[in-house]
Amino acid sequence: MRNRRVVYIGNVPVGGNNPITIQSMTNTETKNIEATVDQIKSLEKAGCEIVRVAVPDMESTEAIRKIKKKINIPLIADIHFDYRLALKSIDQGIDGLRINPGNIKKEKYVEQIVQKIKKSGRSIPIRIGVNSGSINRKKYNVTPSGLVDSAVDHIKILEKLNFYDIKVSLKSSDVLKTIKSYEKFSKKMDYPLHGGITEAGGSLKGTVKSSTGLGILLYKKLCDTIRVSLTGDPVKEVEVAKNILSSLNKRKFGVEIISCPTCGRAKIDVESMVKKVENNLPDMDKNLKIAIMGCAVNGPGEARDADIGIAGGTHEGLIFLKDKIIGKYKEDNLIDELIKNIEKYYGK
Ligand code: SF4
Repeated sequence: MRNRRVVYIGNVPVGGNNPITIQSMTNTETKNIEATVDQIKSLEKAGCEIVRVAVPDMESTEAIRKIKKKINIPLIADIHFDYRLALKSIDQGIDGLRINPGNIKKEKYVEQIVQKIKKSGRSIPIRIGVNSGSINRKKYNVTPSGLVDSAVDHIKILEKLNFYDIKVSLKSSDVLKTIKSYEKFSKKMDYPLHGGITEAGGSLKGTVKSSTGLGILLYKKLCDTIRVSLTGDPVKEVEVAKNILSSLNKRKFGVEIISCPTCGRAKIDVESMVKKVENNLPDMDKNLKIAIMGCAVNGPGEARDADIGIAGGTHEGLIFLKDKIIGKYKEDNLIDELIKNIEKYYGK
């Protein structure tokens, strides 16, 4: 495995040994500045670290500077074919571009983009985003080799212009095809990788597909930044991305609840207890592991391994603080006591 290079999107490093970052994309019209800023603010609040907006026309490029003034995370312009939109986005202070140089009619136009970036004196990486849905099917097969060949051809255009501030994605809606593409590419080149499963679908299927694909990519160290693609509110994408990263111990995002699925042995209502804790501690940003377990089979072990936890009994339960029992309470009081102790020992 090669060490991948580092690029900076605004002040956020991507690649090398830096933490895996979370990206998302707005689904508002970019020229609707108020709606776009509102959505980016919600994404920021949820934990999004880099955001992309579609830039299909000049009016959208004109919104970039105004949007940037009101947000705190780096902004990427997604441009498909029109190099003039890229030039104008650079003028407007964009932090990154998503554009495939091979899609632009003449190389001299790509050169103009590169020259403008160099002249700006800022770091404005270009993401080459090869996608099974938009790959040139006359030239490339929709296979891992085809996706990689297409990415390499786009990259060569930029390298010929001495531009190396590049990151790459090779997305397919097929999980295995995506993984094979990233594996193949990472053996050839050391540009940082943006991971994702494209067009993953709606909430349940999309979450499962993205989690499976990104989980494998992350485990194999084949991506440096991720976007979960879900049809619907992009804030959900960020929540899923955070859960994927924390489940692989790649990042920590505050409270992690370990709870058992329950079975016939459970004599306490684990499901409503979990909900109550989730509702009471939604904004807690401490990296805390809380276990809520139904009975004595796995309960004491998980509760001891957590920072604080419950092991259920018959309509009652023990509360553990690390590996010490700090009390036995009736079921009705268990969660109030748990929250009281979280606040006492770990602060509000
Ligand atoms: S901890 Fe107990 S109640 Fe929960 S799933 Fe395991 S055996 Fe069942």
